[in-house]
Amino acid sequence: MARVALFGPPGAGKGTQAARIVAALGVPHVSTGDMLRAAVRSGSDLGRRVKEVMDAGKLVSDELIADVVAERLAQADASRGFLLDGFPRTVRQIALLDRILGERNLDCVVLLDVPDRVVEDRLLGRATKGDGGVVRADDNLETIRKRLAVYREETLPVAAVYDGRGVLARVDGVGTEEEVFARVAAALPAAGGR
Ligand code: AMP
Repeated sequence: MARVALFGPPGAGKGTQAARIVAALGVPHVSTGDMLRAAVRSGSDLGRRVKEVMDAGKLVSDELIADVVAERLAQADASRGFLLDGFPRTVRQIALLDRILGERNLDCVVLLDVPDRVVEDRLLGRATKGDGGVVRADDNLETIRKRLAVYREETLPVAAVYDGRGVLARVDGVGTEEEVFARVAAALPAAGGR
């Protein structure tokens, strides 16, 4: 059983590391960004509202995202652990997650550390070349800087809270996929243990 959350700035390589973590731990990948993009693709009313917020580089409301996460974590496959990717992203979302998880809280919070300049270069490269062939509408310099600012203001304080709880693992996110994963795996409670 491993309840893990992963975060880092946009462009930190979270997606790649998340895929490796879920493979290593045998838990579902619960990505709020993916769930929101799925809502946008569905073309629902909610999807249309979410799209506006995402295209502006802002965060959707804490209540909305907490409902989405609560529903996902209530599914059977998440009962033996999960990897949360992109949530909690604000200090308020921590309180909402605490309510969802109750006594059995997160075992480990992995923070991928990547400097802003590296992130901007990576994201602009992604916007030009595409990410697996898909150019994301939210990847222009202005939106990237906005997302980085939001990350600094809203999300870094989240790391501080988990640090205070003694579950934060700060991992250097600069290097090859393999190098970074070796560092992440060393920080995971159950990695290699199953
Ligand atoms: P991501 O793929 O995790 O970078 O998420 C893409 C976008 O989805 C973000 O820029 C936000 O607009 C929205 N989003 C994802 N997770 C959250 C969250 N926990 N709280 C609020 N907005 C979120």
